[in-house]
Amino acid sequence: MSDITGQCLCGAVRYRVAHAEPGFGACHCRMCQRWSGGPFFATSAEGVVFEGEGDLVRYPSSAWAERGFCGKCGTNLYYRALQSASYEMCVGTFDDTGQFVLTSEIFIDRKPDGYRFAGDHPRLTEAETIEKYKDYTG
Ligand SMILES: [Zn+2]
Ligand SMILES: [Zn+2]
Repeated sequence: MSDITGQCLCGAVRYRVAHAEPGFGACHCRMCQRWSGGPFFATSAEGVVFEGEGDLVRYPSSAWAERGFCGKCGTNLYYRALQSASYEMCVGTFDDTGQFVLTSEIFIDRKPDGYRFAGDHPRLTEAETIEKYKDYTG
């Protein structure tokens, strides 16, 4: 998908991405649970340009990654591994969310038992997730 837009709740931070994957992932790690208030839904995007950079807070959540949110309304906007050129954009912040489909889950063994998502997609454990992304986590 090309040239799509999104924004935070208050509209102070808007963005445009040159390309985004229609298949998104859910992360159940404890950091994402705390940050998102639940599972973190994100899709890989390239060519991300923000408007309202002054209100965009880039929080260093680990030695290898940052998380971006609006400093006015608190909307979480993205997760990004510092060594990666792409952003993991929060799917709910796109202007049109109806075009995205859940295609993977990671840290599935950290998911609380009280809910689960339907669908026959890959579900990686914590160990499998860390192995898959080890190039980005130093
Ligand atoms: Zn905002
Ligand atoms: Zn996570």
